[in-house]
Amino acid sequence: SETILSVENLRVEFETRRGTLVALDDISFSIAKGEVLGVVGESGAGKSMTGAAIMHLIPRPGRIAGGRILLGDQRIDNLDRTGIEAIRGRRIGMIFQDPLTSLNPLMTVGDHLTETIRVHLPLNRRQARARAIELLEEVGIPDPAVRIDSYPHEFSGGQRQRVVIALALCAEPELVIADEPTTALDVSVQAQIIKLIRKLCSTRGTAFMLITHDMGMIAETADRVAVMYAGKVAEIGTVSQVVGAPRHPYAQGLMGAIPSLDNEEPRLRQIPGSMPSLTALPGGCSFHPRCERAMDICRQRAPALLGAIDHKVACHLYEREEVAA
Ligand code: SF4
Ligand code: MG
Repeated sequence: SETILSVENLRVEFETRRGTLVALDDISFSIAKGEVLGVVGESGAGKSMTGAAIMHLIPRPGRIAGGRILLGDQRIDNLDRTGIEAIRGRRIGMIFQDPLTSLNPLMTVGDHLTETIRVHLPLNRRQARARAIELLEEVGIPDPAVRIDSYPHEFSGGQRQRVVIALALCAEPELVIADEPTTALDVSVQAQIIKLIRKLCSTRGTAFMLITHDMGMIAETADRVAVMYAGKVAEIGTVSQVVGAPRHPYAQGLMGAIPSLDNEEPRLRQIPGSMPSLTALPGGCSFHPRCERAMDICRQRAPALLGAIDHKVACHLYEREEVAA
């Protein structure tokens, strides 16, 4: 299938007075047309930083220090400001956690949409408004021809997030980066937004990079999953591989934290400890202080991300297996 985004050996560094901090280390993945790649991990794993690197939104003094990012055949990591501005919003849409931060309270939903549509598409005001009504309908806003003239605060949280999704789709982007798009919503509303994202992928062929700490959401939405830990990919593969049969001990711990639906009692298997800060990354495998299966080699050497093309894991438990095979 057609590759929309490839991230190859991406490295992001922050120059500080105390030295160079590595925020992202050798990140590689790709996303195909119409596919949802879930990027999952605890806070501080580098998920949002990966999205920010793609969009040239890394906070100062961070910078891309290695690797490449391609959108289709075009290299985008080395674009200048004008170059990336032509892509942001147009070929890559963005959805953030809190829909209120993306919407101006003084503008109607219709003004938001028509303005954005006209930035990207050669339509007059009337055509843009008609397009906006279609988009609102597509994202499931009832009575869109009337609701288009309402203000953001007149919508529920879930409907506002639908509006933000419509905004992200205005220019018909090939890829949408959604960073914790349902975190601020009730569980029942989350499920509806998940359904909507799935529908948009299949009807429009839009690819999604879905950043979340929520394994349950990944299980229901994603085609493939990248599990991140301390600025690296710990495991990447299809949902059935990574959610169904995770191999990395960290991924196994995260999966254990999915509350089971058929069981009243959520099956929470906590991973002890917390994500290390970038200023204090443990040597070797950065997960070793929290890992039940850590061996001597885990404290000495970082494991490489190895395996089949469609399922890779960075853990010494499996490096051994490969050498033996
Ligand atoms: Fe645990 Fe070692 Fe694997 Fe790291 S490399 S996850 S410490 S077993
Ligand atoms: Mg984040």
